[in-house]
Amino acid sequence: QPARKPRGRQFFANPGPTNIPDSVLLAGARQTVDFNDPNFVEVYTACIDGLKRVLKTTQNIFLYTGSGHAAWEACLVNLLSPGDAVLIVESGYFSESWAKMAKDLGLEVQTVAADWRRGADPAAVQAALAADRTHAIKAVCVVHNETATGMTLPVQEIRAAIDAAGHPALLLADTISSLGSLDFRMDEWGVDASVGGSQKGLMLHTGMSFNGVSAKAMEAHKTSRLPKHYFNWTNMLARPHKSFVGTVPVSFFYALQESLRLIEQEEGLENVFARHHRLAQAVRAAVQHWSGNNGPQLFCLNPARYSDSVTAILMPEGFNADDLRAVALKRFNVSLGGGLGPLGGKVFRIGHLGDLNEPMILGTLSTVELAMRVAGVPHAPGGVDAAIAALAD
Ligand code: PLP
Repeated sequence: QPARKPRGRQFFANPGPTNIPDSVLLAGARQTVDFNDPNFVEVYTACIDGLKRVLKTTQNIFLYTGSGHAAWEACLVNLLSPGDAVLIVESGYFSESWAKMAKDLGLEVQTVAADWRRGADPAAVQAALAADRTHAIKAVCVVHNETATGMTLPVQEIRAAIDAAGHPALLLADTISSLGSLDFRMDEWGVDASVGGSQKGLMLHTGMSFNGVSAKAMEAHKTSRLPKHYFNWTNMLARPHKSFVGTVPVSFFYALQESLRLIEQEEGLENVFARHHRLAQAVRAAVQHWSGNNGPQLFCLNPARYSDSVTAILMPEGFNADDLRAVALKRFNVSLGGGLGPLGGKVFRIGHLGDLNEPMILGTLSTVELAMRVAGVPHAPGGVDAAIAALAD
């Protein structure tokens, strides 16, 4: 007998990369063209305008062929100089990873420490900045949506904390798992550099990332001394597309044009946010129900910060999340996200962002419940009914 191969589509419930809509896949499947071809430049320009609308900014935007890490690194090297201090607002694995990158780049890292189940308090950000009388801190880095812990941080409250401390630091916000899924308002919230990626709410392949950059950040860029070349915004401004130091990845833009059409025209950006909220509420209803009988529970302990794009679920003591994920994947072909860093084996994650609807969420939740039963993980059966009730409301 050959090995049994699962039939039907895989249910891909990772919090990024995410499902790519068929029309987006097809839009990218085009023969390549010269990136200076006027027909392509028209598509490119429309995409940049669309991305700015999704970021809710009218300011500069710079793009890179590279995943989110590239845009993380680009905004640090374009804004800062060796030995500058950055203040990291702790939220989980991704705030920690950005901090490690900053340290490797020769920056001094200060952290507003926090319990990963709650995330940092804006008042502690204000206190750290008020204590920095010499203004050694040049940038405050916050992850808008911490993908590892399923927590959304209030970027506008971090802005208010910087202002209340009367501190001139730039505000850098990672929108990698929020953009195109949760409301993000770069200009209104006073964000100086935003970091976005292609493979989550924008529903594209992995491999393109970007920074939105404020006028204040462009001024800071002029005096920054960290080494840079591919990422150098000044080099980019000298290029015909005012971005991309090398070859422009044209197929990404054909795909992006279609994903922007789906987001803005077919559904509407605010309706996209509402759909994410609705689906997230259903996931949370299921998990809260399962938590009976000493079952798994929501990792995030602050309801005001529950993420509408990803839910991290803490396993009961003595049960390994990766064993449960293996049952879901190998027996039922449902791919769930794993716990990251110290949460490995303790947490699994359901991504509910991008091209997703009610039956996909209910299918995933039913299969998680099935996998828990098969794997002998304690839980209160009936989480799916709770999700159905949340969706019907
Ligand atoms: N920041 C956040 C919030 C993320 O979720 C991720 C990836 O999942 C990253 C940064 C890193 O991005 P990438 O994996 O695309 O390099």
